Amino acid sequence: MIDSINGNFMKVKKIGKPIAVIGAGLAGLTAANFLRHNDTDFVLYEAGKRISGLAASFKDAEGFSYDFGAHFITNRLAGAIGVSSECRTIEYYGETVWLKGKIYKYPVGLMKVPRMAFSGAVSKFKSFGNGSGPRSAADWFRKKYGTVLADTVALPLIEAWSGAKADDLSPSLGESLPGSIGKTLYLKAASRVLGRAVACGYNREMPEKASVWHVYPERGVSVLCEKLAEGLEDRIKLETPVEEILVENEKVVAIKAKGETKEVSAVISTAPANILAKLVRGTNSLEHLKKFRYRPMLFVNMRFSGRGLLPDTVVWFPGDEFPFFRLTEATISMPWLAPEGKTIITIDIGCEKGDEFWTMDEESVTEICLEHMAKIIPGARAKFLGANVLRTPIAYPVFLNEYENERKNFERSTGIDNLLSIGRNGEFAHIFMEDVYWRTRRKVGNLMQRA
Ligand SMILES: Cc1cc2nc3c(=O)[nH]c(=O)nc-3n(C[C@H](O)[C@H](O)[C@H](O)COP(=O)(O)OP(=O)(O)OC[C@H]3O[C@@H](n4cnc5c(N)ncnc54)[C@H](O)[C@@H]3O)c2cc1C
Repeated sequence: MIDSINGNFMKVKKIGKPIAVIGAGLAGLTAANFLRHNDTDFVLYEAGKRISGLAASFKDAEGFSYDFGAHFITNRLAGAIGVSSECRTIEYYGETVWLKGKIYKYPVGLMKVPRMAFSGAVSKFKSFGNGSGPRSAADWFRKKYGTVLADTVALPLIEAWSGAKADDLSPSLGESLPGSIGKTLYLKAASRVLGRAVACGYNREMPEKASVWHVYPERGVSVLCEKLAEGLEDRIKLETPVEEILVENEKVVAIKAKGETKEVSAVISTAPANILAKLVRGTNSLEHLKKFRYRPMLFVNMRFSGRGLLPDTVVWFPGDEFPFFRLTEATISMPWLAPEGKTIITIDIGCEKGDEFWTMDEESVTEICLEHMAKIIPGARAKFLGANVLRTPIAYPVFLNEYENERKNFERSTGIDNLLSIGRNGEFAHIFMEDVYWRTRRKVGNLMQRA
């Protein structure tokens, strides 16, 4: 038996052939670390030059730090991985919504808008005794929060973030976003009383409570991956993409990397689900995953003189007034991420591979952002110090109704007993790093018991 959550391991039998782990992001490294602690042989293959995947951190020569989109972690995750002593507590974290030039604190400010509160109450009353379930994400948000809040805030944000119409998205999208309003209000109140940023909406796998708050490693989130990789160097192969996963009689038997075929006892993949489907040979059972879509995203990191240029750590922009849907001034929560008297603001722009933004050069993207930032920050151009742009084709899984049944089946299993697909893009799930960590340990523990 393996107590995969608490780490009270009992030795399991050593498997003859190694397990192949695909990807050295947080999920792959958590899996590898877990296998090592359980005396199970593995080889971890990473396509890139370095470990960390989406949990990469960057620091430039002038002393500005940033991630692949701003990342916040919890003291519980830092403790579990063993990096608490390298982390600083975040005392404040806040979100605000920008609506036609006015700002509303989330969630309290929005709840005080009379027409939003009224429509929310009406929707609650209407749904009382109405057994029919929502058919789309649009339906889910209107039923849950009322048409005014849904149509003016939630749905425009979801559409910018996913690149799909809210009517075409599955209601599971709403259910996948953690936290009820009541719980959010309680956790926000706990933050104020305790003087630290109690995590809210970051966990589903483990309970959200006042004793779980945000911290951030001094050297960036990649520290989590570095710690997990300690002592595993002999089994990590960088710049070695897995090219094929060979399946016989619905069982994985080998992988192919750098043209060489290696026999394996199982595969634990963290590659995006649609990529996994393309790697598999000898079965059609993952064919349907090729349809699964991810939302590409641009992150523009803009450096400015001054601090507190935004009204809150995160500001959401519903509607089409701006090309971006979210700005994050991480230094409001983590002042050490920029030199004194300076700040860094991350701009999230949803796009599609090959579209105008995806193909635009850095200078033009920055210019467009600066033009729009001037409407939000007085004198933005004069304060501007420089920018860089990061791009990823796989920022968010898109829950389209079109493949909802297949997504639900995939949530349960890949359909191949010794092939596990884990991690945020591997599971095709809206999960943050703490959930990636606990779920990976649980799933790898279950795989080992089956082996
Ligand atoms: C904009 C944004 C903001 C976020 N904010 C937060 C936050 O505030 N807090 C938080 O906890 N989480 C946050 N997350 C989520 C967090 O980044 C992810 O949950 C986590 O990094 C996912 O790790 P992973 O290992 O599942 O995937 P990845 O990091 O994507 O790792 C997968 C790895 O697999 C490799 N790979 C793929 N195919 C192959 C192949 N064929 N062969 C070999 N290697 C391969 C890739 O190169 C990559 O290194 C955010 C994510 C985004 C996009």
